[in-house]
Amino acid sequence: QTDFFWRYILMEGFSSLWPLPGRIHQAMVTSLNEDNESVTVEWIENGDTKGKEVRCHALPSPPPAAGFFIIRTIPTRARPLQPQQPEPAPPPPSQQPTQQTQAQTQQQQQNARRKSNCVLEVEKLQEKRERRRFQQQELRVKRAQEVDTTIPNYEIMYMIRDFRASLDYRPLTTADLIEEHRICVCVRKRPLNKKELSMKDLDVITIPSKNVVMVHEPKQKVDLTRYLENQTFRFDYAFDDSTANEMVYKFTARPLVETIFERGMATCFAYGQTGSGKTHTMGGDFSGKNQDCSKGIYALAARDVFLMLKKPNYKKLDLQVYATFFEIYSGKVFDLLNRKAKLRVLEDGKQQVQVVGLQEKEVKCTEDVLKLIEVGNSCRTSGQTSANAHSSRSHAVFQIILRRKGKMHGKFSLIDLAGNERGADTSSADRQTRLEGAEINKSLLALKECIRALGRNQPHTPFRASKLTQVLRDSFIGENSRTCMIATISPGMTSCENTLNTLRYANRVKELTVDPNLVMEGGRPNIHAVNQLDLLDEDWLSISPQRDDLKLLCEQNEEEVSPQLFTFHEAVSQLVEMEEQVLEDHKAVFQESIRWLEDERVLIQMTEEVDYDVESYATQLEQILDQKIEILTELRDKVKSFRSALQQEEQASKQISPKKPRGL
Ligand code: ADP
Ligand code: MG
Repeated sequence: QTDFFWRYILMEGFSSLWPLPGRIHQAMVTSLNEDNESVTVEWIENGDTKGKEVRCHALPSPPPAAGFFIIRTIPTRARPLQPQQPEPAPPPPSQQPTQQTQAQTQQQQQNARRKSNCVLEVEKLQEKRERRRFQQQELRVKRAQEVDTTIPNYEIMYMIRDFRASLDYRPLTTADLIEEHRICVCVRKRPLNKKELSMKDLDVITIPSKNVVMVHEPKQKVDLTRYLENQTFRFDYAFDDSTANEMVYKFTARPLVETIFERGMATCFAYGQTGSGKTHTMGGDFSGKNQDCSKGIYALAARDVFLMLKKPNYKKLDLQVYATFFEIYSGKVFDLLNRKAKLRVLEDGKQQVQVVGLQEKEVKCTEDVLKLIEVGNSCRTSGQTSANAHSSRSHAVFQIILRRKGKMHGKFSLIDLAGNERGADTSSADRQTRLEGAEINKSLLALKECIRALGRNQPHTPFRASKLTQVLRDSFIGENSRTCMIATISPGMTSCENTLNTLRYANRVKELTVDPNLVMEGGRPNIHAVNQLDLLDEDWLSISPQRDDLKLLCEQNEEEVSPQLFTFHEAVSQLVEMEEQVLEDHKAVFQESIRWLEDERVLIQMTEEVDYDVESYATQLEQILDQKIEILTELRDKVKSFRSALQQEEQASKQISPKKPRGL
């Protein structure tokens, strides 16, 4: 019947949720079915012949002799050809119309058909719906037979599988261009691990292209039917679970090595939930017995620093390379290259931050660096029953420093951050956990603001709000500072919420639209810190810059920081500051006491002389006692204040609304 035939293009996978076009098939019209105004089209897909009946009203009229026709379909697989419907049985002979009436009836029917297009439309839709329902039912039955229904979410698994089948994958390749970014934000997905596999957890993350991450979040309608909510995020790069460290390194930290040779400051962070692959990315593969830190970004960066050093341009600069490795835990700094010595962070009049006593070891080659990383890592985890438990609560900072005749030339800080889910521990019943959580929450918020400020060349950043940002301050300022964040994510459905939080955070780091309220030209806004701790001694508190920065930080993150959380953060800041001072004073008093003891010993010895000077004895003893009383009273008052700060913190922690801060 087809004296004309034309090509038919079927586009599948068109979905409003996902803007990528689906698959396109070139199809052939194989028959024209006049009675229901449709054509049958066929095409080859994966070696199978697939087919479909298409209503003619959907075709261009008149059909071109040769041309294209495009139809949108629901994003499902193509169906195998339907068997032909049996012909309807002819009406009984008694009702057989005459030839003439038959012609009339046909005419009427045709008219009716033309007139009631709308009715027809509805019927077609109904028919379609029913057919679809039937097919879905069939599919379900078929799947129930073929699938392992012990998989807890097999329905969701099939939805994800179908969705993926409609995607066109174009992952990042080594041939892709390495772009220049001042701030680079990437995401890395790790494979499902043994535990997740044994729990039959589902992989809900898809990375279809070099910069897109999709999360398939299972949701439930009111009628309890389950569906997927697919959320799409874009970053500078997205690495899927098959990407090796070397490749991640190439697109993230590698471009920053050059920066430090050009007298710049570079930072590279691994951010994410505990167990998502931060340490694997930064430190190397620590699974099993063979700990291999040579494949981590720390070591890869060191390797390239030494390679770069040999280039004629840099060779003539006569640079020395040093490394430091330390840990920030609950707002305190510990030197991992010096048996975890606790270090103090001080700021001088020029806002230069110093970690007092931090060991800077000279390194001559990559092997030297590997040894230091090993020393630091074993120090980091020593004395801990579970290595992961501790490292998830602390930030580890590994730095490569270039010096020229002793003067700083460039610095590369590589940071394995604390697990971001720990930031939500602020309402824990245990104080230590609360303080850790508060510091993590604060430092991750401050980090985000510092990077954002770097992107805007903003003069003031709330770097004093946390130890982490304080220590890294010099890396967030200056024309020649660059940073890279690698957000690591777990693929499992059980991690979905944390993963979404990680992606949202990473997204905000790079979202560089300028909010006019946040641009602070000519210095910082006027902040009147509310005195939450009136109880405490005013002199002792003195106006601390930390408080202002904390206020600024909370204002910049109103959505995530409720007033109660802010109050709590203030209480924690005071507490931590006081703890430091009490300890410092106590140590001083202790030293002083040794001197008093010596003085008193001499004094008592004097009284053993037959003719000792009573007058002098009494005067000296009184002096010593006065001094003791004065100093001890001062210390006692501080301890009192400290204790009330502890109470204050406890009360504030109870006020925090149970809602978890978003993004952390
Ligand atoms: P985190 O430091 O974020 O808590 P880890 O780096 O310790 O997480 O990773 C948790 C586990 O997952 C480790 O056993 C690690 O070896 C494994 N892992 C992480 N990322 C990958 C990856 N990309 N490929 C293979 N295994 C990985
Ligand atoms: Mg880790």
